[in-house]
Amino acid sequence: MHTGVGRAVSHSFVRGLKLPAAVSLVAANLLLAACAPPPADLQSTPKAPVANETPVPVSTIAQTATPTLPPPTAFPSPTALPSPTPSPSAATTAVGSPTRAPVAPTATAPVTPAAAQAPASPTPAPTQRQTADQPDDQDGYQVHFLYVLPSDGRDEELDTNGWIATAVGSAQKWLEKETAGRRLSVDTFGGEIDITFVRLSRPDAVVSAYDSRSGTTREPLVRVTLEVELRSIGFEHPRKVYAVYYGGGSDTGECFGGSYPPSRVGNIAIANVKLGTRCEEPRKLVYADGSYAIAVANFHEIFHTLGAVARCAPHHSTESGGHVSDDPQDLMFPRSSRTVPRVDVARDDYFGHGKPACLDLARSPFLLPAPPDAELPPLWPAAVARPRACEEEPTAGATGSGPRGGIIFDNMRAATMQVFQLTPEGRTLRDTVRPWTASYQQGAQTGSAWLVADANGKCLAIFVSESTLTRASVRGGG
Ligand SMILES: [Zn+2]
Repeated sequence: MHTGVGRAVSHSFVRGLKLPAAVSLVAANLLLAACAPPPADLQSTPKAPVANETPVPVSTIAQTATPTLPPPTAFPSPTALPSPTPSPSAATTAVGSPTRAPVAPTATAPVTPAAAQAPASPTPAPTQRQTADQPDDQDGYQVHFLYVLPSDGRDEELDTNGWIATAVGSAQKWLEKETAGRRLSVDTFGGEIDITFVRLSRPDAVVSAYDSRSGTTREPLVRVTLEVELRSIGFEHPRKVYAVYYGGGSDTGECFGGSYPPSRVGNIAIANVKLGTRCEEPRKLVYADGSYAIAVANFHEIFHTLGAVARCAPHHSTESGGHVSDDPQDLMFPRSSRTVPRVDVARDDYFGHGKPACLDLARSPFLLPAPPDAELPPLWPAAVARPRACEEEPTAGATGSGPRGGIIFDNMRAATMQVFQLTPEGRTLRDTVRPWTASYQQGAQTGSAWLVADANGKCLAIFVSESTLTRASVRGGG
């Protein structure tokens, strides 16, 4: 899902849009993102979905969800986008890459609170590339930034040339202004933003194909397959959300994506920075206050990943889950604002409302200064599901009872796998999972038994559902 700069709300909504053929470039630039409505709530799903019940992906900004979508420069109708005339303050300017010449890596700066609070100066010095998460300046909940490329993706060195640091810093300043001094708790090392570079194992064409809606595999999203591969190489710290600037494409043109617990549990929020795609437009936009639209849009996705906007919010959108419906300028409106986005305009939906029974990001420990009454994202973190031996299959079958927790099966293999539910009568196929993606068995009852097998039915492991959500990593086995 995405934020403000954006285009459509849900995929179905996108399809229904009637758009005028021509619009201003600036306006078009601002229309990038959209989020699909979330699937049924995890806790209320009575049974494990079957293979062809493809849940609607939660947080996805559809740039081009279907062939009927408008071209990149198209603009939603006035009825779809309430403020057709950008105000003077909405002026945007192109953002160039930092032009500073690379210099030798600088010595590690001393760790100071001030430095940690301002990870990105206006023109950060080029830094040395890091391929692993560096030691953390602080132990709390935090957002770790990554620059991720497919195996054949063009390396623009956005992690080391200061571009990502500048973008994130601009969004932090925007957030501080909007929230009287709150900011994301960003992972820093030596007082500077710690950005990890990851080169994926798969080429762009393979990864982008995960957005295809065909087939029976659930969550066919670039966001999900990136999450699974990043988890497989260790990016699953229990106190970290990963914000990914991704230099690859998607065959539906999505530019942003995030999780949305409890409906969709996950730990990454992505912004697509590949040049030559529709995402190039938002990438080059800067709001009138100097904040980078793409970084603010990424914050929208991070907010989703932290659980916003909860369904209990008074203005939770009935058209697009996870969003508000009351103000088109709001950061969490389904379509991006053309003017500088605002955080929970009326302070009644997701930030600072103070209501104890509804998620309030002002209480999130992922923000600094850390609140005294920290409230974690729903279902955070998913515990690690422990595998059992395949020899237990004959006796493992159980229908389960009691509270529903659920299991997420991460297929960290280069081959398809199958997910079966085990009952006293035997195996029942619940999902066929493509390589490097996940199967979300929502609402699996405590004690229910699950078997994962390769494409030929050969057992890889057995898992038993617990009363809380668990996450099973399935590796090996060809
Ligand atoms: Zn969204």
